[in-house]
Amino acid sequence: MTVLEIPAGSLFGLRNLPYGVFQPKDSAPRVGVRVGDWVVDLAATLGDDVFAQSTLNAFMAQGRARWTEVRRQVTELVQDGVAETAVFAVDEVTMHLPVAIADYVDFYASENHATNLGRLFRPDSEPLMPNWKHLPVGYHGRSSTVIVSGTDVVRPCGQRKPPGQSVPDFGPSRRLDIEAEMGFIVGVPTKLGETIAPDRFAEHVFGAVVVNDWSARDIQAWEYVPLGPFLGKSFATSISPWVVPLDALEAARIDTPTQDPEPLPYLRGEEKWGLDIDLVVEWNGHIVSRPPYSQMYWSPAQMLAHTTINGAAASTGDLFASGTISGREKNERGAFIELTWGGKEPVTIGDQTRTFLEDGDEISISATAPGVNGTRIGFGEVRSRILPATGGMQE
Ligand code: MN
Repeated sequence: MTVLEIPAGSLFGLRNLPYGVFQPKDSAPRVGVRVGDWVVDLAATLGDDVFAQSTLNAFMAQGRARWTEVRRQVTELVQDGVAETAVFAVDEVTMHLPVAIADYVDFYASENHATNLGRLFRPDSEPLMPNWKHLPVGYHGRSSTVIVSGTDVVRPCGQRKPPGQSVPDFGPSRRLDIEAEMGFIVGVPTKLGETIAPDRFAEHVFGAVVVNDWSARDIQAWEYVPLGPFLGKSFATSISPWVVPLDALEAARIDTPTQDPEPLPYLRGEEKWGLDIDLVVEWNGHIVSRPPYSQMYWSPAQMLAHTTINGAAASTGDLFASGTISGREKNERGAFIELTWGGKEPVTIGDQTRTFLEDGDEISISATAPGVNGTRIGFGEVRSRILPATGGMQE
């Protein structure tokens, strides 16, 4: 037996304990929990087959009582000692997509982001549409192109129509962008016709990940009217490999900013589900932004309530993301179209400047939050590199 040494100040101490799907060399993917710089093999230590699988879905479907029980068991296990054969160094295993994604929905919950994008996309009208403060605006994304951190992203091709050009042409996106977001994963499903009130959020939602919602702004700007984003978003959405359970976020829970006008009753709840999470965006290793989740207008509990209020079923593995997180300050903007103001104000990264992504660029988005007893917990990062457009898509 070995008692795991956790470095002082680790973002992966006993107050965090995120779950992921890992694969040691020469054996099958399975569920593990991260402790310090180690992964503990849960199939080997807890003897439940739900952990011998290549996704978290079966465990997530077991529900909150079971999640709480496993968290207690893991805490004891780590304190008492774990069989050496069930412990792996985190940098010696491959991390997989942790969840078989069911439906994927993306919201637009940052008032700063929605206002900035409104100004950029529709300069001659009110930046916020009339519905924005009455409901969390969202769209259905493409679950089959949700990918795990470390997976390269190929520059998409599509229709582009720059201003001043009367008809569209076709080719690789010239305005490839990121969106720094948090994503929430449903564990306990509902039946068709049921709804999930905001105060039932924690009964259904298992945990959270960091999301990079890649966005081809030129394709998006031309296609999005009137039904919303489609091919400008659906080519890739990246998530971090470690799912931080809601139980680890107790100390991060805060009120959302004041919501005025007051939302309709189905969007109101007693529980606080604003979250004090700090994100960091790195472009080729240089920090370019620090988006604060604490300023998000709509809470994830409101997003889930809105998603199900028409009776739409929620499924184990549903992923819903917050939308780009942008703070009030320029260096808190979570998308490059905002950070560079539509490409007019390049950012400096080392000895180079950038407006949108170039081939070979690498983006890392990471996040941390307060843990209990003055600790800090980490989500890890979502990191990807841009590859050139392929597939015989000539200009
Ligand atoms: Mn988005």
